[in-house]
Amino acid sequence: MTNREKYYFDDFTTANYQNLIRIGKENYDFKLYHELENQDNFILLRHDIDFSPQRALRCAQIENAEGVRTTYFIHLHSEFYNVFEKEAFNSIRQIIELGHDVGVHFDTHFYDIQTEDEIRLHLNEEKLLLESLFKVKIHSFSFHNTNAFILNCRKPEYAGLINCYSDFFQQEMKYCSDSNGYWRYERMEDVIRSKFRKLHLLTHCEWWTEEVMSPWQKIQRAIDGRADACKQLYSDLLHRNNMINVDWD
Ligand SMILES: [Zn+2]
Repeated sequence: MTNREKYYFDDFTTANYQNLIRIGKENYDFKLYHELENQDNFILLRHDIDFSPQRALRCAQIENAEGVRTTYFIHLHSEFYNVFEKEAFNSIRQIIELGHDVGVHFDTHFYDIQTEDEIRLHLNEEKLLLESLFKVKIHSFSFHNTNAFILNCRKPEYAGLINCYSDFFQQEMKYCSDSNGYWRYERMEDVIRSKFRKLHLLTHCEWWTEEVMSPWQKIQRAIDGRADACKQLYSDLLHRNNMINVDWD
């Protein structure tokens, strides 16, 4: 069996992403975290943006074409993108303009957080920063790279934001995630077609590409794409100013 078969590379295309949204719409309402009331038959679809706001925008466009709104969690300390950069900023602005919700993808490891009070302090800072940057209200947050401490932080809210890892979301819903670009347990399509009435789905849009690729190829492309854009920026700058780029091929 090839890795392509074993890890279902073919599941992770944008065409299949659209297909999953369509299957979901047949049996469920898509909900945002702060819209949730006591009900059945819903999908909470969330996206943690770990690597690429540009890929997140692609998912957002597909969802918008299907009339669905979801939540995008922004990581302020990513090593792979910076929301203050023009392209990343504009991608997130467009996601918001398409009617989607945004939240904080909170990285406790950046602050070396050991207590819930430290979570409240720094989460509030990041919430205020995102609200001022994107002129939106932030309602919810998700933890980045969970560990034993984080998985015990199960209160419904911290810093006034809905906690995606609270008891409610962890215990009362069927969860499925595409973390690391493969299905750790079940395939998402099987979960969406299952008998469960409350679904909590997590996708990282970096894993959903136009063509079939391996997980590592996708990360490689994200890294190379950013590096190439940086080089081009510098080259264009020199060109505009009639300067010589010494040793540039
Ligand atoms: Zn993450």
